[in-house]
Amino acid sequence: FCSIPDNTNLCSKQSSVNPSVIPYKSSSNISSLETLKLDGYFSFDNIDYAAKDFGNRYHFLPSAVLHPKSASDISNTIKHIFRMGSTSRLTVAARGHSHSVQGQAQAHQGIVINMESLRGPEMKVHTGELPYVDASGGELWINILHETLKYGLAPKSWTDYLHLTVGGTLSNAGISGQAFKHGPQINNIYQLEVVTGKGELVTCSEKQNAELFYGVLGGLGQFGIITRAKISLEPAPKMVKWIRVLYDEFSKFSKDQEYLISSENSFDYIEGLVIINRTGLLNNWRSSFNPRDPLQASKFISEGKTLYCLEIAKYFNPDESDKMNQKTERLLSELRYVPSTLFMSEVSYVEFLDRVHLSEIKLRAKGLWEIPHPWLNLLIPKNKIFEFAQEVFGNILSDNSNGPIIIYPVNKSKWNNRTSLITPEEDTFYLVAFLSSAMPTSTGRDGLLHVLAQNQRILDFCSTASLGAKQYLPHYTTQEEWQTHFGPQWEVFVRRKSAYDPMAILAPGQRIFRRKL
Ligand code: FAD
Repeated sequence: FCSIPDNTNLCSKQSSVNPSVIPYKSSSNISSLETLKLDGYFSFDNIDYAAKDFGNRYHFLPSAVLHPKSASDISNTIKHIFRMGSTSRLTVAARGHSHSVQGQAQAHQGIVINMESLRGPEMKVHTGELPYVDASGGELWINILHETLKYGLAPKSWTDYLHLTVGGTLSNAGISGQAFKHGPQINNIYQLEVVTGKGELVTCSEKQNAELFYGVLGGLGQFGIITRAKISLEPAPKMVKWIRVLYDEFSKFSKDQEYLISSENSFDYIEGLVIINRTGLLNNWRSSFNPRDPLQASKFISEGKTLYCLEIAKYFNPDESDKMNQKTERLLSELRYVPSTLFMSEVSYVEFLDRVHLSEIKLRAKGLWEIPHPWLNLLIPKNKIFEFAQEVFGNILSDNSNGPIIIYPVNKSKWNNRTSLITPEEDTFYLVAFLSSAMPTSTGRDGLLHVLAQNQRILDFCSTASLGAKQYLPHYTTQEEWQTHFGPQWEVFVRRKSAYDPMAILAPGQRIFRRKL
């Protein structure tokens, strides 16, 4: 059963929603949904939005959208479809905040579940020795932050952007600058409540139904829909010292990053950026970051060179400011950045964590948020990162990039390897995220086709140079590629699929398995 859908289900890269397409309601399969007794409701009309995501390239129109008010709404719906067996072709996609980029939260002529309507029971913070928050799978991380802060607590591991749902990030991993210390978000979960592809509502954890628990974490939505999660918390700091320094040599930059992620008592957040061909860079930063030495900084010109920016942060409370500054000074003195490029800022914890939202507001105002995002996220083993950087930053992208390129190492020893997440074999690997935007109709270097061709060159290089790279937020079009992605874990993945979603009803937008008929 684990074959991918045929080409009619795979969309062309530039397809778009045709408003004249009539949803599939005429089918008896769909009309039978109206007989279900639910706390929430189905909608069948004006559901074009469910065929859109942040990537803005893939558009599959569903037949219906479920707005659940309870986990049993989801369970009853899936149970109903499961019982129809091979007489139904319906698939079901949980839609979090729909910030995936390749149609992963869509269901062609199927049912999309609008997870953000699943609010009850209310989010609850549990204090005590091992504090946690019990939240809906459709809850946004930004809401979790605000709620937990009322108790002086917060989750340990984040994504760079918080307007994403719990279920959406836990289906992948949830990686940011804290992952070297705490592992990704999927390593910071105590318990899940899940609706499987048979419609069963199951509670799972490390000790209870562990196979389902680890399968669902990083499982690309294949084994169940996360309706609730217990997320571990820590005392939240009030303030963040946020620092950026520049390097003109990749090797110094990466060695310093690797040193920082491996040393005890390091920063609380470590990321990095590649800056390609941008002069006047330092002036742009002045608004939010102060140079330590303004005179020296004003003399620094990037001259169109590729630069590497280390971004680090130290958390603190106002009464610990002196101690924090001493620690920061000591750590900085061990690094080899260009001395005049030390930029610092002090912001609240919320401002720091919600930083990308400010860019969102600015981009939305310019009409640049809802354009195609042909993103590519890779995990590159540490021992190949120099080879990768030489070819990709020195050749393929030597004179332009169409968005931020984020790069930082993480240490797998802090990660749990029982989840479904696939990473390179080495203990330390880099996340390299090419977060490109593209102009749909441009034929120039800012055009979609150009960016896609660049992405393909990067992927081809990884493959021909045998770097042992893995895609993060993976996207493939053939089953052979999925099998290669999972490697020895493929068998486990297939076994879990047949145990928890034997009809392949769930998450069709990932295009790993074909709906059983
Ligand atoms: P959706 O796009 O709605 O869904 C994604 C997949 O998960 C789909 O297959 C869907 O069916 C499934 N799914 C959704 N909800 C559930 C559920 N409750 N149960 C089971 N399956 C479910 N990722 C990082 O790791 N680190 C980052 O720093 C980061 N930054 C980002 C910044 C931006 C601006 C954007 C747009 C994305 C970023 N991402 C990052 C990627 C993001 O984590 C994933 O795309 C994530 O899936 C988005 O969450 P969502 O709620 O929008 O999920």
